[in-house]
Amino acid sequence: MKYDVIVIGGGAAGLTAALSASGQGARVLVLEGASRVGRKILASGNGRCNLANAGPARYFGGASLAGSVLKGCPVEAVLSFFHGLGLVTVEEEGGRIYPGCGQAAAVLDVLRAECGRRQVEIRCDQPVLGLEKTPWGFRAHTQQDAFEGRSAVAAFGGMAGGKLGHDGSPYALLTGLGHTLIAPRPALTQLTAEKGAVRGLSGLRLPARLTLCRGSQPLEAAQGEALFTDYGVSGVCAMQLSRRAGEMLKRGETPTLYMDFTPMLGLTKRVYDRVPAQDPFQQVALTAAYLQKRQRMLSGKDLLLGLAPRLLAERLKGQSVEALAQSLAAFPVQLTAVRGMEHAQVTAGGICGEEFSPDTLESRLCPGLFAAGEALDVDGDCGGYNLQFAFASGLTAGKWAAARKR
Ligand SMILES: Cc1cc2nc3c(=O)[nH]c(=O)nc-3n(C[C@H](O)[C@H](O)[C@H](O)COP(=O)(O)OP(=O)(O)OC[C@H]3O[C@@H](n4cnc5c(N)ncnc54)[C@H](O)[C@@H]3O)c2cc1C
Repeated sequence: MKYDVIVIGGGAAGLTAALSASGQGARVLVLEGASRVGRKILASGNGRCNLANAGPARYFGGASLAGSVLKGCPVEAVLSFFHGLGLVTVEEEGGRIYPGCGQAAAVLDVLRAECGRRQVEIRCDQPVLGLEKTPWGFRAHTQQDAFEGRSAVAAFGGMAGGKLGHDGSPYALLTGLGHTLIAPRPALTQLTAEKGAVRGLSGLRLPARLTLCRGSQPLEAAQGEALFTDYGVSGVCAMQLSRRAGEMLKRGETPTLYMDFTPMLGLTKRVYDRVPAQDPFQQVALTAAYLQKRQRMLSGKDLLLGLAPRLLAERLKGQSVEALAQSLAAFPVQLTAVRGMEHAQVTAGGICGEEFSPDTLESRLCPGLFAAGEALDVDGDCGGYNLQFAFASGLTAGKWAAARKR
């Protein structure tokens, strides 16, 4: 039961760490708590797995650690690693990178196949319950056994994603060795709105620009497809704003979301990247002028016919042209909450990244211990940044963990 490297967690970071370590000739064991590895990879990107982003890095929390890791292992290195395993990738709008076949399973398949070829030992249904420093290295305890490793890589992920995440208990593996836990919070999650604001709109999907405001002061904006739900607003652009909205709500503030639907009218260029916050009312006058022109052709009752989906037209019927322009260009939604970990795509917070070397991801407090992926207090924007960090940090930690055996 003695290994050069023990990897705790067989997700994106853990599998890449294992392959990176075995590539250096290390004998590697992956201990996975669930009945199979890589479940979040399979669920990612709506089953398509947005595995990286070719654009500039956008990270929060331990952002400087993420910056150093991605400098040492940039997107080209992550892609070349995957291309070397046979995965074909394509780049889409906003620099998002996906497997060419559009299947998340292809990403997991190439990782698992390479683990098999390199004789990386994977043991599933073996949650690590304790991690002990020993004179030789580390001892990882599971319910049934204890495994010795010269070095250990903590890649147990975060709490986000309901059953795909953990319950917070694995953090104790590292806090028990002296590390600090930065309070875990849901990030990239859906926004809950005051009931009246979204009444009758559930199920509606629209291209929109969303601006998060304190009162009418714009703070942050995002563009893309917004989805109305029973409880509020979802979709990538809404999730992008959830971190800031959550912080405001925690301080007792009530954030307002202004939704600009003019991309639907063809009045605003449809861009999917995050855009700086601007005046949320900037399109109102243009929209009013557009509707007045339209009013010359169509009766008041048909003004939104063929322009807005029926659910929205129903909700806005009877409004004057001025009020309609306001609703289409700056539809106000009072936010009451951000949804919890079970609905979040990623965990903000986690094990403090500053306690790890930015070059090797080795613990500054406990030599021989490494960490990678969402277990650390690094979270990225939507668009492939989280998996990219998991892969890049896994490759880095695995390489240096293997070097420890010498
Ligand atoms: C629905 C959804 C969609 C997403 N889509 C995208 C996307 O398209 N692009 C993107 O960049 N990011 C996406 N993410 C985020 C991304 O999947 C994660 O950030 C990434 O998987 C983190 O990798 P990780 O290896 O650190 O953690 P994980 O992939 O969660 O792996 C951690 C592993 O450790 C195991 N484990 C936990 N505790 C223990 C223990 N005590 N002992 C042993 N094993 C343990 C877990 O079972 C798990 O297999 C998505 C997340 C969700 C939930």
